[in-house]
Amino acid sequence: ALTIGIVGLPNVGKSTMFNALTKNNVLAANYPFATIEPNVGVVPLPDSRLERLAEIHGSEKILPATVSFVDIAGIVRGASEGEGLGNKFLANIREADAICQVVRAFEDGDVVHVDGKISPESDIETIHTELILADLQTLEKAVVRLEKEARIKKESKPLLENALAAQKVLEEGRTLYAAGPPAGVDLAEAKALGLLTTKPFIYVFNLDEDQLTDEGLQSSLRDLVAPADAVFLNAKLEMDLMDMSPEDAQEMLEGFGATESGLDQLARTGFHTLGLQTYLTAGPKESRAWTIGQGWTAPQAAGVIHTDFQRGFIKAEIVSFSDLDEMGTMAAAKAAGKVRMEGKDYVMQDGDVVEFRFNV
Ligand code: GDP
Repeated sequence: ALTIGIVGLPNVGKSTMFNALTKNNVLAANYPFATIEPNVGVVPLPDSRLERLAEIHGSEKILPATVSFVDIAGIVRGASEGEGLGNKFLANIREADAICQVVRAFEDGDVVHVDGKISPESDIETIHTELILADLQTLEKAVVRLEKEARIKKESKPLLENALAAQKVLEEGRTLYAAGPPAGVDLAEAKALGLLTTKPFIYVFNLDEDQLTDEGLQSSLRDLVAPADAVFLNAKLEMDLMDMSPEDAQEMLEGFGATESGLDQLARTGFHTLGLQTYLTAGPKESRAWTIGQGWTAPQAAGVIHTDFQRGFIKAEIVSFSDLDEMGTMAAAKAAGKVRMEGKDYVMQDGDVVEFRFNV
């Protein structure tokens, strides 16, 4: 499943946000694994299409796509010096598909900032620097090893060249993800070396309640991290929202000019950053969203449900959600010719409602 690692300086509101994240009782009922690991929180990807599908099919249950967040504590200024970032930290962050940095923008005299002042820009730079230094340490060893290998094996030469290109980028103070292929860095190869800054970044700005409606501030913070995605929320408010009924939560959000919670936005942003989409299945038991990459074919998508579905794939019966929604029933959609039979080369579209046919 999609996993996003949460990092940030101390006292920026990581734990508060994380507690809100793991407080989702609705989710815990459907996904028992959501509460197994203390530092893992699972967030549903909000998807109003599922309610409508459940209505059409009389489904008992709704299972949204999910995004997992891993709380990765242990990064402070200077963390990569001396003992380094710590093995647990490195292992956790290497497993993550993306890195989400929580950045403090809220002012509160009672909550000490580690650097004594509130500066999103310098906080972001501090974390970048630590990750870049960690990557440079990893590379130092890798380059020595690859140099030896390249002397014996011709195939290792491109690997060495890639490592050296990565080293150059990092020495310039840039992340590998931001520099990417234009700088001569193959990200997949660099990732295989265990380099952390190959991952996409998402920034969560933890704001005061009055900053939540400050468009000027948000637009300057957005510019600060562009082209990376930015999410704005108030971690304490997110906690409060979790304790409210959906109706009260909605009303509260509207008071701040928002239509969805910050955590919902974060789940959506995670999907966007990683280039993911969902397709849907529906029946009397459940209406469910499944996570796939953009451009995946029907058999690949079937494989997310079960590898047997992919191996024995015959065809897929597909109707787009908007057509089904408009027609109101599967029978009406079929009668109107809106239900298609697609083969193994079909490229999945977001919102496809699917039933796979397969051999076992
Ligand atoms: P962490 O060290 O990054 O995990 O930060 P915590 O979540 O423990 O928060 C540190 C302190 O800041 C706690 O006292 C929180 O109650 C407080 N805090 C967290 N989010 C906010 C916020 O949005 N506004 C204000 N005023 N305080 C917050």
